[in-house]
Order: sequence, then C-alpha cells, then structure tokens
Amino acid sequence: MCGIFGIVGNPEASNLTYLGLHALQHRGQESAGIVASDGQDLRAHREMGLVADIFNAPVLEKLPGNAAIGHVRYSTAGVSQLKNAQPLTVEYVGGQLAVAHNGNLVNAQELRTQLEADGAIFQSDSDTEVVIHLIARSKQPSFEQKVVEALSKVKGAYSILFLTDKKLVAVRDPNGFRPLVLGMVKNSWVLASETTALDLIEAEYLRELEAGEMVVIDETGLHASQPFPPTRLGRCIFEHVYFAKPDSVLFGTSVYETRKEMGRQLAKEQPAPGADLVIAVPDSGVAAAIGYAQASGIPYDVGLIRSHYVGRTFIEPQQSIRHFGVKLKLSAVRQVLKGKRVVVVDDSIVRGTTSRKIVKMLKAAGALEVHLRISSPPTQWPCYYGIDTPSRQELIASSHSVEEIARYVTADTLGYISMEGLGSAVGDKERTTFCTACFSGKYLTGNLNPGATSVSESNPKLATA
Ligand code: AMP
Repeated sequence: MCGIFGIVGNPEASNLTYLGLHALQHRGQESAGIVASDGQDLRAHREMGLVADIFNAPVLEKLPGNAAIGHVRYSTAGVSQLKNAQPLTVEYVGGQLAVAHNGNLVNAQELRTQLEADGAIFQSDSDTEVVIHLIARSKQPSFEQKVVEALSKVKGAYSILFLTDKKLVAVRDPNGFRPLVLGMVKNSWVLASETTALDLIEAEYLRELEAGEMVVIDETGLHASQPFPPTRLGRCIFEHVYFAKPDSVLFGTSVYETRKEMGRQLAKEQPAPGADLVIAVPDSGVAAAIGYAQASGIPYDVGLIRSHYVGRTFIEPQQSIRHFGVKLKLSAVRQVLKGKRVVVVDDSIVRGTTSRKIVKMLKAAGALEVHLRISSPPTQWPCYYGIDTPSRQELIASSHSVEEIARYVTADTLGYISMEGLGSAVGDKERTTFCTACFSGKYLTGNLNPGATSVSESNPKLATA
C-alpha cells in the first residue's frame, strides 16, 4: 500500500504536499518523498522513515515550484530500501519525469524480464520503474500518449501520478482498485489517495477519478479523458475494511459509516447473547465495534488501549518481533474487563497472531469469556493489487475452519461477517463493483489463477507501492 498526493498551481506546492502526505501516513510508513517542479527543473527529496521526521523547513525550501507530487510507501514485497522510495525520478529523452504509484502491477516481472533482455537497466526493484521504461521507449508523439501506451501494457492496480517540468498527469487503472480523488484549494488542483488529505489542507473535494480515467493538468487547465476501454470495477473492499482512514470518503461513501454498518451486520449475523460489553481492537476495530454495540444493545466500552508510539505491528518483518509487537501496541483495562463476558471486534484476522495475543491479554485481565467478532470474511487469498498480505500458507483461514481458528486464538466463540453482509455494508450486496479477491479468490486480472496454491511462489513479486 501507499499514499500519493499531487498539487499544481500553488507557490506552496511542496509545503502542501508535505501536509497531504502527513494525512496519508497511515497508508505507508516505510519511506516518503516529494518531487517539486519550478517549471524548469524537478527537485526531489526521499528518505526512509516517517513524513514528519524526513521533512522540515530547510528541506522543503529546497523543493521550490508551483507543482509537486509526493508518496508514502508501505512495501508489499521486495526490500525496504531507499532505492525503492518514491516518487521515482528519471531523465529520459523527453526530459525530467517523476512518478508516484499506489498499487501493484501483476505482470511487472514479465515486462521487466522482456525489457532487461532488450538491454534496459533498472535502478530499483520497483514495479513502477517498468512503467517509466515503457514510457521512455514509446514512440508516441505526446507525453500523454506515451503514458497511455505504457499503461495499456501493464495489468493490475495503479493510481499513479506523473510530474514533468510542465504538467501533472494522474491515471487510475481501469478496474479502479485503488482510490484517487480530485480536489481544489485556492485555484490549485489537488490529487490525493484519500479525502482526509484534502481536509487537512482545506481543499474542496470535487470528485473521485473514474476507473480508467486520465487527468492532465497544465497551464491551460485540467483535461480529463477515458483512454482505456471500460471494464468491470474492482474497487478494493479491504480499503473500506481496514486500510483507509475512517474520516475519508472512499468510493463515494464514508469509511467510518461503512465500518459501523459492517459492525451492525456482524451483530445481526453473529450475535453474542449474554455478553456484558463490546470492546474494539483499536484503532481498526473501533467503528465496527460501535456498530455492533448499537445493533446488539450490548454496551460499548474501552477494554484495550493502544499505544500511539509504535508502528502497526503487521509491518514488523519477523515473527519474533511481531509477537512482541502486539504487547507493545495494546494493553488491557482490567477495571473494565474483570469478571465480564466480552465481545471483542477486530477488522480482520491474517495469521491469527494478533487475535491470539489479544484473547490471552483479555483473559489475563480477568475477562470471563471472550467472543471474537470479525468485520470481514475470512482472509484466504493473497492480494496482488497492493495490500500487504502474506502467502496463502500463512493466512490462517486458507487452511483452517472457523472452529479451528477459534481454538487457535483461544476465543470462546468466533464469528466473521458474511460476504453478503460485507457487500451490503459497502452498498453493493452483489459485490459487482468491488474486488473481493482476498476473501473470495476471484482475481479480476486474468493471469492470476485462484486455484494456484500461491502465485507469488512461481512468480516472485517485485517491490510494490
Ligand atoms: P494477524 O496477527 O496476522 O492475524 O494480523 C491481524 C491484524 O493485522 C488485525 O488486527 C488487522 O487490523 C491488521 N491487518 C490486517 N491486514 C493488514 C495489513 N495489510 N497491513 C497491516 N495490518 C493489517
């Protein structure tokens, strides 16, 4: 996952990009970068780490100009190194170019192998660099046409920003896997992964980019087109479940309200009669837990406190650290839990590590019973479109029944929301406009065989954004 931000026509472009990236920090904590254009030159600053630690006034002063793009990275595969930090910048025959990409290209390895066989030299492990090579090789006359030709060769997920000395081009892939919104602040156009970034800089939210849409912003204004043939929408349902920030409006609906609705559905489908209170696994389970409490009539309380001084546990690379990480991140409130039958709501179970630790922690704090409720269906399939999920073998629900998972995490009962319930919470009961591959194994780009044990084994992924 990653977050992207772009702005054109503002003398404060890099400062506003810094703020925008700060609002999108939840989408990636590994590295951050900003590239600004003063109409002649592109200047870049990229570092490993958090936005607030990387950028300060002196750094931002070195990024002058009226246009900028920025990126926060959370790699889904590949090494965590500065060479993969974005925006990527290059000089090619057409001039200077910077690229910020959110998503994952499923045929990047194949394309890279072909390009390398043809003599191309890659500077990073990033799938995004494949797009740059395709643009550089395109014989199309205009930059926009080069971009379209390059993107028509790639498959997968991309919400992507290109910055040249003269223009910003934004494109969303034809399935619309990843979000991308358009806004305006003081006559400047703004693009961002989520509306929360627009809110921070007091930009007006205009609309979401359509799937397959290209927007070009230059001194003549904004020009929108639909260069790719329409196809089935595949908006990532997991953005609503977990990834996006609750205050954002995503795919046209409020993330917070949608998560609350997931909780209400979950309460209907997976009641916990006799429970004394509902608690959330903070922060990701909070909205759904409130919805669960509302629909069930069981009081909501705060039984777990999250420390805000550690990163998301999932990001830790080693199992040993991950185990420890849950304890670093969450602590139980004895006074609330002691002697209680507790419903605990979380958004998802991936490996089961977090849930197991939490159930233990709640019982150690005196909870009599722990009823775990999950506001998404069992995660059984890896995502190839930009969400970090481990291989199929590591996903506990791919090889264990709900009863077996309940035993593993030592919960008294375990209940997941159904696919239909999740669909109706996101406003698409039949799930015809969403990608649900992580739950259903139905991949929308044809070359991923859901029957395969793990595509990543036979086709190692490149570093992704
Ligand atoms: P696990 O311990 O592997 O079962 O991870 C489950 C926890 O990770 C849940 O609390 C989720 O909120 C969180 N989670 C789920 N998906 C992701 C993801 N792609 N990146 C980071 N955290 C995640």
